[in-house]
Amino acid sequence: VALAQPGIRALRAYDPGLDLVALRRGFAEGALVELGSNENSHGPSPAARAAILDSLHSLHRYPDPLGGDLRRALAACHGLEPAQVILGNGSHELLMLMGQVFAGTGRGVVSSQYGFAVYALAAQAAGAPWTPAPARPVDDAMPRGHDLEALLAAVGADTAIVYLANPNNPTGTWFDTAALADFLSRVPANVLVVVDEAYLEYVTDPALTSAVPLLARFPNLAVTRTFSKGYGLAGLRVGCLLADPGLVAVLERVRESFNVNLPGLAACEAALADHEHLAWVRRQNAIEREALADALSARGLAVSPSQTNFLLVDFGRDAAPVEAGLVARGVVPRPMAGYGLPTCLRLTVGVRDENRRLLQALDEVLA
Ligand code: PMP
Repeated sequence: VALAQPGIRALRAYDPGLDLVALRRGFAEGALVELGSNENSHGPSPAARAAILDSLHSLHRYPDPLGGDLRRALAACHGLEPAQVILGNGSHELLMLMGQVFAGTGRGVVSSQYGFAVYALAAQAAGAPWTPAPARPVDDAMPRGHDLEALLAAVGADTAIVYLANPNNPTGTWFDTAALADFLSRVPANVLVVVDEAYLEYVTDPALTSAVPLLARFPNLAVTRTFSKGYGLAGLRVGCLLADPGLVAVLERVRESFNVNLPGLAACEAALADHEHLAWVRRQNAIEREALADALSARGLAVSPSQTNFLLVDFGRDAAPVEAGLVARGVVPRPMAGYGLPTCLRLTVGVRDENRRLLQALDEVLA
């Protein structure tokens, strides 16, 4: 440890909490209701599965180091040039890569207090100071959500990157596109603003649209997207970053050449083309999200508004026994103590039967 750079010395390795693999062994195939990781309970497009099988003939070959076909498809889908797209081993890799490239000693990172945990990690791994900006209050319309004014106030002369998730994990909250445009026009042009749109496919509020069209106005903007959520391909680990070609070119200098694997490239291209499947997932999630939020609220629980595929639920008391009770009944939530929210659990919106089993288990635990 003493040999590591100071930022890394203070870090601890990722703690997955529960041993899911061991837990699954105790249940019949598919019987465990896994609502801890904001995965897509509906699964990927059948076309993506077929593309993976097809790609297996070429497993002895390296994947395309430039991910050309998928980059072109993503560029076309967002109205951009392929030079504005870089692929990652999940968007997680790209979030970390930006820390490595743009932050560092004396070049800090700003994110919201309850922003996605990887932003602080990206700062620490780069040896960069991390400044959390206070979140919105609990009784706000967007409880614990991003406070764009507080984020602006936290930006200083040494700030290199501001990371914002919209909508945000773990809160599920969001801000509208007009507010983001205003924020971008007020942030100094030498600060990189990363808008993480991991959950954008799940958004139903018409006031929240992708930040991608703002790239034309703000060269210091980068937008990340992922195939892990709406496209249901978390197991393949593919994400992308959309930005100014100059910014992408700098990131390309340190990107590992074969960071996206062969089945991943093939499957994501197929998934991107299957508009019908994505539309179905979005519809199902919107219906189930509303029904689950209503059912939880009806039980007197505080449910944060969400534009994602998960709900942050505040039990108003230590949530650890609730978590343990759910797990004992074969339902896996995500504890929030690591985020400084020990009274909350985060629950992925499942398919209808999973949500029913969640509510049943919760009723037993809370009885
Ligand atoms: N951003 C946010 C806000 C997330 O919640 C996640 C995953 N939980 C990611 C990025 C990373 O996702 P992936 O690496 O699978 O693309």
